[in-house]
Amino acid sequence: MSDVDDFIPVAGPSITDREVGYAAEAARTAWYQNHNVFNARFEALFAETVGVKHAVSLPHCTAGIHLALAARGIGAGDEVIVPDVTWIASVAPVDYVGATPVFVDSLADTWCIDPDAVEAAITERTRAIIAVDLYGSMADWARLRALAEKHGLFLLEDSAEALGSTWHGRQAGSLGDAWVFSFHGSKTVATGEGGMFVTSDDALHARVMTLRDHGRPPGDRLFLNTEVAFKYKMSAVQAALGLGQMERFDELIEHKRRIFAWYRDRLSGLQGVSLNAEPKDTTNSYWMVTIVPDADYGLDKFAIMDGLKERNIDSRPFFSPLSTLPAYADRPESARFLPAAPRAHEIARLGVNLPSGYHMDEAKVDRVGAALEAILRRS
Ligand SMILES: *Cc1c(COP(=O)(O)O)cnc(C)c1O
Repeated sequence: MSDVDDFIPVAGPSITDREVGYAAEAARTAWYQNHNVFNARFEALFAETVGVKHAVSLPHCTAGIHLALAARGIGAGDEVIVPDVTWIASVAPVDYVGATPVFVDSLADTWCIDPDAVEAAITERTRAIIAVDLYGSMADWARLRALAEKHGLFLLEDSAEALGSTWHGRQAGSLGDAWVFSFHGSKTVATGEGGMFVTSDDALHARVMTLRDHGRPPGDRLFLNTEVAFKYKMSAVQAALGLGQMERFDELIEHKRRIFAWYRDRLSGLQGVSLNAEPKDTTNSYWMVTIVPDADYGLDKFAIMDGLKERNIDSRPFFSPLSTLPAYADRPESARFLPAAPRAHEIARLGVNLPSGYHMDEAKVDRVGAALEAILRRS
């Protein structure tokens, strides 16, 4: 391979003069009475794009999950049902509020939380479901919604990986009680670090606005805090980057989908390799192109990653089940509804995220495809 010295990173943003210009303008002007101008523009454009009433810019998505749980008064003695296989940020805030995460299995095709498993795990202590739109796939929103309504549960969608994905023509973020997004540098829209909480529920929004500003109701100028709370705000320079990114939203999502299409075509000759799903009536914004090769290949994710690394290609392992991590060792109450052999564990054992950043062009996808072919066929 002639270009083997060219390292291919796994993720990264698309930053143009538009974002750089806004960031410079924010550094110069977003002070005094204009300190919130870029945050307000970013939030307004985000809310309009996603199709919700309220968007609240945050330092990261984890803050959004923490605020959502706190705003609903979820705490000690409460249980929150979560997928066992997700990034730990989806679940860690359950501990922040003193509640108990309850891990359940995921579906084989979308890799998102299994509604049947959710239903089986509901107890009299259950207060909320956190569904995660994993690697761009949409969770089974209709069934989750019905379950949440039937049992009076709060439905929070962690859409950190699915900005731009749609469900029956509606954007991720417009369907549940509340949704959260991440703008970490690896995500579809990037501000370096950053997050957004969105909802169309006025009361929930008002509660989040107070909780995220040390218990100051919006408009308080006299520092008369009404309770002890948190401080979660995004800086103006980050919001300026986000505004530029959201003005390029269609272009960014199109680019993500093009990268996936190149991979799909390039890998179509490999038998028994599943890619991110796009079930009927949904579109996938393919945050991370992910392969799950059949177990018959006899290679787990770490072996495939080693093979890619030897060829100077970066990759990531499919998230490992939280119930198997040291962080959640000794938490039998959290794992009590997991089946003996969860589907998600096998997927998580085999799956690998391929380079999917905006630096990917067709030639780079070809190179990754050829490498995968050689690794899987051991040629
Ligand atoms: C990235 C990510 C988060 C957390 O985002 P931060 O902005 O880093 O807090 C949460 N959930 C999922 C599924 C993610 O991929």
